[in-house]
Amino acid sequence: MKITSVKTAASTGHCMHLWVKVETDAGITGIGECVHGGHPAIAIINELAPKLVGLDPFEIDKIFEDTRRSLVFEGGFAGAFITALTGIEIALWDLKGKALGVPIYDLMGGKFRDKIKVYADCEVSPGLNFDETKRVVNGILERGFKALKIDLDIFAYGHIGSETEHYVKDRFNMTPTGWEHDRMVKLAEMVVEAAGPDVEVATDLHTRLDKHSAIRLARDLEPLKLMWLEEPIPPENIDTMREITAATSTPICAGENLYLRHGFRELIEKHAVDIIMPDIPKCGGLSECRKIANMAEIYSMPFAPHNVSSPIGTMASAHVCATIPNFLVLEFHWTERDYWTTIIKENRDIIKDGFIEMSDAPGIGLELDEEVAKKYQYPGTTWFE
Ligand code: MG
Repeated sequence: MKITSVKTAASTGHCMHLWVKVETDAGITGIGECVHGGHPAIAIINELAPKLVGLDPFEIDKIFEDTRRSLVFEGGFAGAFITALTGIEIALWDLKGKALGVPIYDLMGGKFRDKIKVYADCEVSPGLNFDETKRVVNGILERGFKALKIDLDIFAYGHIGSETEHYVKDRFNMTPTGWEHDRMVKLAEMVVEAAGPDVEVATDLHTRLDKHSAIRLARDLEPLKLMWLEEPIPPENIDTMREITAATSTPICAGENLYLRHGFRELIEKHAVDIIMPDIPKCGGLSECRKIANMAEIYSMPFAPHNVSSPIGTMASAHVCATIPNFLVLEFHWTERDYWTTIIKENRDIIKDGFIEMSDAPGIGLELDEEVAKKYQYPGTTWFE
């Protein structure tokens, strides 16, 4: 079997969802999804496509590594280039599974579990009182989720509002005022209380704080026994992240903006975080993220992938989560999009009672409904041309 074409299309959602279609001379097609590569990823795939024609689509790791190494000077370490390769890689896994009539997890060593636990990203905007917060949390719990995540940083929703403006320093200073610190603690307390003892709560800071403020906050949150506190500081300084992690029993989590095993190595080796969260359809794809998870496992570190993808990328991520021992929980970020269920031909919610059940359908196990996806075509893009 040989690759005959590699084509792209893109839909709107959580930014751009880039679809990659790989076609073969055997008439078998694979679909992949990648995120946060934007228009540069489309341009990169279009440039790579002619070089992929004629290759054996079963040699997935070789195609990935060959392409990456041949273009190291063009950015083969991180960013849109890796995301573009990720979209191709996921499409190749889908294709190989379909060609052999087996699900991807079976090609990756088999399942550790049949169901993948999912947490819902939950929009508790600043300024809500307890009753309003409880209403938002209940909306998530009514959908069956047993875990959720909230944004603690006041800038997560853009404008902070004139009534609170004077309590906050500025967007660039990373030391919060006492008011802002107390607000974060109170918000987390309200959500944990509203969620109840059977629901796990994670929190995200989107790199809002500096070191001492992060340690103070993480310690004040300790009684809540959070699932984690995410990206308290920018992830670039691994030693500083390690100091925060060592100073608190609140689990620290990071990794959504890192790429490849190389990007995670130091974070893992230095125990700079308690939990790692690669974005699988962004940072290197299924093979690479299995390897990242395996690296983390030998350092007693759980794997909780970041995920903003459609059902296609989410299910592709679930295949990795099924095949590693140290899987913790997978993100779901499409609560507000009603095309979550209609963008796949199966026309169903792949999440039931807070879990994704792994099926034995070949490849990823879902088909993109191109007609629906095209209704949300990303401005300025072409459609599988
Ligand atoms: Mg995050």
